[in-house]
Amino acid sequence: MKVGFFDRDGTIIEDYTDSKWSYIDNPVFFADAIRTLKEVQQRGYKIIIITNQYLINEGFISLQQYKKINKKLLSELSGQGINILDVFYCPHRRNEGCNCIKPQTGMITEAMEKYPNIKINESFMIGDSKVDIDLAINMNMRGFGIEVDSSHSNVIKLTNISDLISYI
Ligand SMILES: [Mg+2]
Ligand SMILES: [Zn+2]
Repeated sequence: MKVGFFDRDGTIIEDYTDSKWSYIDNPVFFADAIRTLKEVQQRGYKIIIITNQYLINEGFISLQQYKKINKKLLSELSGQGINILDVFYCPHRRNEGCNCIKPQTGMITEAMEKYPNIKINESFMIGDSKVDIDLAINMNMRGFGIEVDSSHSNVIKLTNISDLISYI
């Protein structure tokens, strides 16, 4: 199984400052992301979301709030015909020293344990932050940075998420 690992905030939905997240109840989708997810799915990839949610343990949002937004996100995407195989999130504080916060590889290795048929060499990671492409590099996986630069040969910089389609 080949997987498109997607960052969530700033990649699929609107991102905010940490303090503004406290007041957000609904995910706001990027239209280009919806179109891209559909196309990625059509090309035979399963889709897994990999998201840092230090907002939880740092007290900006509650776990309840995270789950509520996640549920709305999945139901909206499912209504668009996009099936998300799974979502992995890291709730830990940035200074907590966990091994799941991106660019640490914990969430991907957890996904690989849960779905042993994932072929990492046919998969990719895409996101709008340096931690996303650094995660790809740490996994020796193809990475796509949306407006993020990297000189690493595994990583391609995109100006828009929809440009992904020409590479997969
Ligand atoms: Mg992001
Ligand atoms: Zn963590």
